Order: sequence, then C-alpha cells, then structure tokens
Amino acid sequence: MTDRLTMQDPRVQYPRPPFPRQPQPVPGLAVEMDPKPDHGEESYQGSGKLLGRKALITGGDSGIGRAAAIAFAREGADVTIVYLASEEPDAREVIALIEAEGRKAVPIPGDVTDETFCQSLVEQAVAELGGLDILVINAGHQQSREDISRVSSQDFDQTLKTNLYALHWITQAAVPHLQAGASIITTASVQAYHPSATLLDYATTKAGIVAYTKALAKQMIEKGIRANVVAPGPFWTALQSSGGQPPEAVMQFGEKSAYGRPGQPVEIAPVYVLLASQEASFISGEVYGVTGGAGIA
Ligand code: NAD
Ligand code: MG
Repeated sequence: MTDRLTMQDPRVQYPRPPFPRQPQPVPGLAVEMDPKPDHGEESYQGSGKLLGRKALITGGDSGIGRAAAIAFAREGADVTIVYLASEEPDAREVIALIEAEGRKAVPIPGDVTDETFCQSLVEQAVAELGGLDILVINAGHQQSREDISRVSSQDFDQTLKTNLYALHWITQAAVPHLQAGASIITTASVQAYHPSATLLDYATTKAGIVAYTKALAKQMIEKGIRANVVAPGPFWTALQSSGGQPPEAVMQFGEKSAYGRPGQPVEIAPVYVLLASQEASFISGEVYGVTGGAGIA
C-alpha cells in the first residue's frame, strides 16, 4: 500500500465496497472485521502535539475511539480507554499499542449506561493518570430498525443512556478535574443533520450531542476549557456490522458517500488530535464534519 501521507487520490486510498457479509452480535469486535479497519496501527505518525497530556476515551477499544487512542499515544499522551467487558480482545491490542509508545495505558472495562460506573471511571482515570486533560466521549450504541413500531422503550433507553446520559454523567464527573487548556471532544454523527429513517433513536441522540456540547462549550469558556464535536460520516467500524446497519447494507457500506467508500478510522484521528491539542486554542463550540465529501450542512 502507498504510504498514508503520500499525495494521492483519496477516493481510492482505502477499500471500496462490496465487502463480505459479516454480521456480529452487539458490541462488535474489530478483530472480526474483513477487511481489517485501519486505526493507524501501522500508519499514524505522531509529532509531539500532546506531550505529557492525560486522556480518557470512551469506546477506545475499537473504531474511531481506537484510532484516537493510538494517535494520542503517538503524540505523547497517556491514555485511559473505557469499553465493555466483552470487548477485551480489542482492548488488549490497544493497550499494547499505547504501551509500545512508552506511554501509560489504563484499561477500564464497564458499562456506561450505569451512572455509578460513569462516576467511578472518571475517579479511576484521574487517580491512575495523575489528572485529566482530554476527555473524548465516543462510546455509542446504534441499531437499525425498519419501523417506529419496532423501537421499544428498552431500545430507546439503551440508545439514550449510552449516547446521551453517559455523556452527561462522565462530563459532570470530569469537569472538576479539568484545568485551563483542557479539551472535551464529543462524537456526534452526520445523522444529527441528515437522519436516516431507520435510526430514529440514534439520530435523536446525535442531534442532542451537538446541542449539549455547544451549550457546554459556552459554560466552559470561563474556565479556559474548550469543547467541540466531531461529526463522522460513514466509517468502517464494528458499530455498523453489529446491527448499526442491516448485514446487506454493510456489504455496500460507504457506497452512497461522495467518495464511494467508507472512511477508515485513522482518517478521522487527526481531527481528534487537533481538537485535543493547544493548536486548537481558538476553536471551541464547533462541529467538525468528516464525511468524505458529503458535508454536514
Ligand atoms: P465501535 O463499535 O468501534 O465503537 C463504539 C464503542 O462504544 C464500542 O467499542 C464500545 O466500547 C462502546 N460502547 C458501546 N456501548 C457501551 C456501553 N454500554 N458501555 C461502555 N462502552 C460502550 O464503533 P465506532 O463507529 O468507532 O463508534 C464510535 C462513535 O462514532 C460512536 O459514538 C458512533 O455513534 C460514532 N459514529 C460512527 C459512525 C460510523 O459510521 N462508524 C458514523 C457516525 C458516528
Ligand atoms: Mg468496540
């Protein structure tokens, strides 16, 4: 493969559909995916932008969160990752990659739909890292359902608890530990702006994440803390193959993007690095779309 940073046509830089059929139970594992996503394992090069920073990333075991975790470690940060206990095989790989950079890696398995766990994960991260400078809220739950009649209260609860309540619980626990210069980054979606018919509950949470983060950014200014949103388009992650899309749609995933392919997680990592770093000193309350050409407006 050509080096990731060599000048080239981005439309053909990474795999294009069709992909093999590959349904998985929730939460999906990156290790089960074909083709393997590029989270930057071999390809992300750091340049000291986050030297000595202490980061916490929810859903840091796989997908977009894993790409951010690898990039942060290569930029010089110590990183805590939070994930579900069943994702241990993915988490082990990320921990090894962070430690290979000579950085501290703190694994915290648990379920963010539990308020007490959200509070304790922040306390554990702060204790083990010796503080907190970067908070990335990225854990997410997405299940595609054809009709409104199929979205039970239990489904609605699971999606809202994972995507919205956990954002509030973790951020509320983290803010007292953050100092001026710290950065909060949330992960919304193009779904906040262009909701799919099959993602009623999910799209609702993603619009909520945008509103929450913009309000939070206004509140944080007097503390010198920045807050921003990343809004991904289609990315090749286990979220999609574990019910985020029907199995047949996963086989064509990314086809309808302007590039005709999904993004690879490493292609969004530089935005998290920018927003986490002091390079983004004048950037707060913003939404960064990373959609492969379609845009979020
Ligand atoms: P992913 O499945 O690799 O990551 C999501 C992570 O969320 C999982 O690894 C899991 O650790 C975590 N998670 C889910 N439920 C949890 C719970 N109850 N407790 C603790 N952790 C939990 O998929 P991804 O695509 O990298 O998703 C990351 C974020 O990106 C999500 O917020 C998702 O909504 C968003 N996003 C993804 C896409 C895409 O096309 N992949 C597009 C737009 C937005
Ligand atoms: Mg995962």
